[in-house]
Amino acid sequence: FKTVPHLTPSGFKKTFQFVVMGGGIAGVTCVEQLSSQIPSADVALITAGPHIKAVTNYKQVSRTLEEFDVEEQPSSVLEEKFPNLTIIHSAVKSLHTKSHCVETADGRVFGYKKLCICSGARPKLLTQDNPYVLGIRDTDSAQEFQKRLSKAKRIVIVGNGGIALELVYEVEGCEVIWAVKDKAIGNTFFDAGAAQFLIPSLEADKPQAAAPCKRPRYTTEEAAPGAYGHGPTDSGSALGPDWHEGIALRGAEQVRYWPVYVRLTNAKTFGCDFVVSATGVVPNTEPFLQGNTFVVADDGGLQVDDHMMTSEPDVYAAGDVCTACWEQSPLWQQMRLWTQARQMGWYAGRCMAAHSLSEPVELDFCFELFSHITKFFNYKVVLLGKFNGQGLGPDHELLVRCTKGQEYVKVVLSGGRMVGAVLIGETDLEETFENLILNQMDLTPYGEELLNPDIDIEDYFD
Ligand code: FAD
Repeated sequence: FKTVPHLTPSGFKKTFQFVVMGGGIAGVTCVEQLSSQIPSADVALITAGPHIKAVTNYKQVSRTLEEFDVEEQPSSVLEEKFPNLTIIHSAVKSLHTKSHCVETADGRVFGYKKLCICSGARPKLLTQDNPYVLGIRDTDSAQEFQKRLSKAKRIVIVGNGGIALELVYEVEGCEVIWAVKDKAIGNTFFDAGAAQFLIPSLEADKPQAAAPCKRPRYTTEEAAPGAYGHGPTDSGSALGPDWHEGIALRGAEQVRYWPVYVRLTNAKTFGCDFVVSATGVVPNTEPFLQGNTFVVADDGGLQVDDHMMTSEPDVYAAGDVCTACWEQSPLWQQMRLWTQARQMGWYAGRCMAAHSLSEPVELDFCFELFSHITKFFNYKVVLLGKFNGQGLGPDHELLVRCTKGQEYVKVVLSGGRMVGAVLIGETDLEETFENLILNQMDLTPYGEELLNPDIDIEDYFD
């Protein structure tokens, strides 16, 4: 008689009412929701790492805006909170949707009545298996990055999303070459105007500590050879004050032997110690696709409907691994961010519980309006609705108010109604603008007065 590890002593594989896969924000929030909605339910969280990611200091700022911190915690914290929760530390190797079970890398098999896949996403690397190309995803890869950075003289950062923005601002004591294919920096979040507002922060010393050598060098695809050092370009990507020095150094740098060279589409080649690939993410779906018939979206995510259900029966998905494929509110779009991982995990848990209890459930209000609070270059940044005119075509109007070094306010109007906003700095406008976007009031009579700094807009629309 041999003990089969995935079988319980009674000889049957353990079947849980709910199995959630992934200990990131989406998975943990889903587990919390399930365990508090149905405290008697048998819930399992299967996750590859020893730690889970928890939401702490949660604050509802307004109807849709929320702020919180993300903390890594030992998974025992969750188990202590929810006595019916079992945490299984192993990666899921395969999924059998017909027989409703998952197999882990250590050979165990667990059955489920309902399953939620929250396996996140990983960096899309420029090239696979190159020791000089790093992606940053988790604590381990961040630590590896830090270690390599401490010995580096020059790195190349490729990409223009939130991670690249954060890195170019934070990296100190090392020359940074930032390769951006778009016309303006940070185009995932900003237009060229906001980018222009933020650029001086890159050139200034940071508030806390004077950086000995925090001087990123910028290059744009459009820049013709020899065009460096002429100040701001048409593309809205300004060159830093140290630009000439950077270029003057180049001759000397070119004779160095760098471990790796990158060639850009503008035909320039740069040597560096390593390359950070920050060009987006790929949903972690591989272990689940084989043998099943998931419908996968163009971006590689598992398609989910307005109940966070995938195309496979009793299988839900939430967070970075999924792609929202329901008919969306005209003011919302999916972005792979903490906020949405939390919201989706929470809502998936609610749907799973409601379906188990045969209760109806409606799409949560948080999916009505896209909203995100973050920090870039030490400025508070609030993004609302179609903040970059996403999907609006040429048929929209922009109002902008900008005070250098202090605030940047942009409003997107369509048919006289506010459909989006970017607020950088301490503008205190988020709640009023959120209301104006949600109530779709016709703002035509107010025209540019809407952003007149002498009018207390909050009082005005109260
Ligand atoms: P994840 O947090 O990736 O969690 C996935 C979990 O699944 C992990 O626990 C993993 O171990 C587990 N897993 C994966 N495969 C398996 C498997 N086969 N079996 C079992 N378990 C598995 N967003 C913001 O809003 N603000 C920011 O400032 C911000 N900064 C970021 C900085 C970096 C460097 C990165 C990489 C992302 C950042 N994001 C930020 C995005 C944010 O981190 C993600 O949107 C969010 O973490 C997604 O949560 P998730 O739960 O879907 O996935």
